[in-house]
Formats: sequence, C-alpha cells, structure tokens
Amino acid sequence: MPVLKTYRTEALVLKNHPLGEADLLVVCYTRESGKVRATARAARKVSSRLVGHLEPLTLVNLSLTRGRTLDQVAQAQVADSFPALRNALPALSRGLYVAELLDGFGSEASPNPELYSLALEVLAGIGRSPESDLPLRYFELRLLETSGLLPELYQCVECRKPLVPGDHRFTPNGGGTLCSQCAPLGAHLRPLSVRTLKVLRLLHRQRLAEIPSLTIDHQLAQELKATLTASVEHWLDQQVRSSAFLDHLRRTTPAEPATESAAHA
Ligand SMILES: [Zn+2]
Repeated sequence: MPVLKTYRTEALVLKNHPLGEADLLVVCYTRESGKVRATARAARKVSSRLVGHLEPLTLVNLSLTRGRTLDQVAQAQVADSFPALRNALPALSRGLYVAELLDGFGSEASPNPELYSLALEVLAGIGRSPESDLPLRYFELRLLETSGLLPELYQCVECRKPLVPGDHRFTPNGGGTLCSQCAPLGAHLRPLSVRTLKVLRLLHRQRLAEIPSLTIDHQLAQELKATLTASVEHWLDQQVRSSAFLDHLRRTTPAEPATESAAHA
C-alpha cells in the first residue's frame, strides 16, 4: 500500500467539471504548486461539506491528498469568495477571463508565485472597477512578464535601436516593438500608436492600484486590446503546442534522452 501524503495550500479555483455521479474535478492555481487538478469526492451531493467551496473564482484553503494521477480534496475552507466579482456580471465575466488565462499559462510542473499574486491583485482591481478593461490589459502584460515573455517596449526587437516616437510597429510573434526600418521575415506586423505604447509602458512600470485614472477612448481601448491579445494568443498557442508535444514525448519515449530532444525542439 502506498503511503498517502496530505498537504495544505491556498488556492484560487479556476474551474470545475462534474465527474462520475457526484464527484467534481477541480482545477485551481496555487502559490506553492502552480496549477493543480484534483478530484473532490461526492462534492456534488447536497450533504457534502464541500458544496459551494469549489466554485470558480473562490480563494480556498485546501487540504489535499496526493494521488497517483490526480490529487484529492480532503478539506476546503473559503478564504475569500470575491463578492465584488459575483455581484456584477461585467466583473464576473472579467474575473472568469483571468481564470481562463491562468489555466492556459499556468503549469502543473513549475510553480509561479508571482503569477499567483498577480491574479489576486488583478481580481481585487476588477472588484474596484468592475466596468474597466484596464485590469485585464494589466493582467495580460504582467502575465507575459511573469512567464518570461514580456514584449519589448523600449527598443526595436530586431536592430536594438531606441524607438523614435511615432515610428514603430508591433510584432506579436517577433517579441514586441519594431522600428520602421526593420521587418524580420515571418514577423506579423501590427500598427502601434504612440499613445498605445505609452499606456503599455505605464502598465509595465506601475502597480495596478497606483495607475492614475486614464482617459481611454474607444480607439485606444481597441488598439490596446488587439496588441495584447495578439501576444497572449501567440504564446498561448505555443504553450498549448509545447505541452501537447511534451505529452506526446512522455507517451511515446519514456527513456531519459527525450528531455534532450524536447529542449532543442
Ligand atoms: Zn529596427
């Protein structure tokens, strides 16, 4: 009989799915262990002590038992149910977008405490300004940064020259801003206005709660969104592909040398 090991962690619930007759499969993000997928036995029974504790966008103190494939939720206590997000649909949908990106970028293999703190910082920001998209843009940029994928905002990614105001474009798959002279092969090019670049730099330099109130018109909002979502989608696609590739390697080549070929892929 294997020895069962129990551990405790603070976790943000990202989503859950029904499993079997009365169980739940819960996906959450934790400070210490990154993304965790766990089963919660009988959690859908009305008599369960876990009812209502494992809803998306709930901060919980979990007690988990390690399993061979999936960990199992032994206990859950709600630390914060983010009422400001639940009381307004615009805030709830923005919060669920954060959870979705956290699920996409979060790794089960490597913890990222910075990303965990960032998610809580942004959920608090959405609660303060439920109608604003600025917390989402902040999250997208900082999510890329904490994942080591921050787009270059200060010099041309190709020739490394400092950017001249008004004379630049953005390449989501080429790593950020380009001067007007450079057009690397295969780079997708997007227009990037000076004011969008200024807001991106502001989001990079300031904490969310310290950003002064900004007047963001429709055009600026659209350009910010298009620039950041293009980067996020590019890297999310890479992330999904690389994890699918690694899963494929694990299934087909259990021997050690697989790691080497994965590193060069
Ligand atoms: Zn250049």
